[in-house]
Amino acid sequence: MSRVELSNEDRDRYHARMMNKLPDGLAFKENMKLCGKPRLTSDNKFKCRKVGCPKCRYSYISREQKNAINRYEHASAFDMALLTINLGIVAETDAIWDRWVADRKKMRYAIRALAQRRTPWLHLSMTAYLDVFPFAYEEVTSLGVKQKEYIASVGLPASDHIRPYWMYHLHALVHHPRLDWQAVRDGLANHFSAPHQVHVEPLYRDELKGDNISSVIAYANKYQPVSLIKGCERDWSSEWMADYFYSCECFSDSYKSIRMQINGKILPVALGDLLREDK
Ligand SMILES: [Zn+2]
Repeated sequence: MSRVELSNEDRDRYHARMMNKLPDGLAFKENMKLCGKPRLTSDNKFKCRKVGCPKCRYSYISREQKNAINRYEHASAFDMALLTINLGIVAETDAIWDRWVADRKKMRYAIRALAQRRTPWLHLSMTAYLDVFPFAYEEVTSLGVKQKEYIASVGLPASDHIRPYWMYHLHALVHHPRLDWQAVRDGLANHFSAPHQVHVEPLYRDELKGDNISSVIAYANKYQPVSLIKGCERDWSSEWMADYFYSCECFSDSYKSIRMQINGKILPVALGDLLREDK
C-alpha cells in the first residue's frame, strides 16, 4: 500500500485542470468553480461536495477516517486488512456504474455464502470504495506482470483503441475477527476467481491502529489522477479526468454510490480489552 497525500497545491492544480476541460454551462462545473470561495451570507467557505472535486474529496476522506476509527475502537489491528478486488475492465466510463451495482450485490452474496459454510464469516465487516485505473491500448504491454495476467484472463472489451480502458476495482478496510487474513483472501478468491483478482494485505504491525486505519481510508479514496506504468507515475490526461469525474457526477448519488458497507455481527468485547481501556 503506498501512502497518498495530496498537497493544497496539487488540489488546486487538479481543480484547475477540471475547470479547463469540463464544458461550460454544466451545473457540476459551476458548483465546482465556486468551491472554496467565501459565501456571501456567512463567513464559511462554499463547498460543492462533488465526488469529482479534489478539494471536497479530502474533507470526505477525513470524515471517513474519523468514522472508521470510532467504528473499530474495540477491534484489534491484527484482525484488520486492506482488501483489493479487481472487478473488471470497460471501454466507457458510463459502463462502470451498472456493473458496480452488480458487483456490490455479488460481494454481499459471496460473504453470505461463505458465512453459511463457516460461521466466522458472519463477523466480517468492511467498508469498500470504488477506484479506477485507466490505461491506453499502447500501454498494455508496459503494465505489471500481474495486471497483464489478469487482463489476459478477463479479456479487453471491444474499443476504438483511441480512448483509454478503465480497469475498476474496490479497496476495502476489512475487519475479520476469528478469521486470519489468508482465509479472507482464499474465501473471496473462490468467488472472484480470475488470476490476481483478490489481494489482501494485513495492516502494518509497527504502526498505531488509528494511523493504519487512516492510511487505508486515504488510499482507498485517493483523488490522485495518476496511473503507475512501468513503475513510473503518469498523470491522467485532463480529458480522462473530466470523463471519469463527470461520469461519477451523472451516475452516482454523491459519495454514497462509490461506497459499500457490510456489517458483520458484532462480537462481545473481550474482558481483556475492557481492562486495558481502564488504564
Ligand atoms: Zn468542492
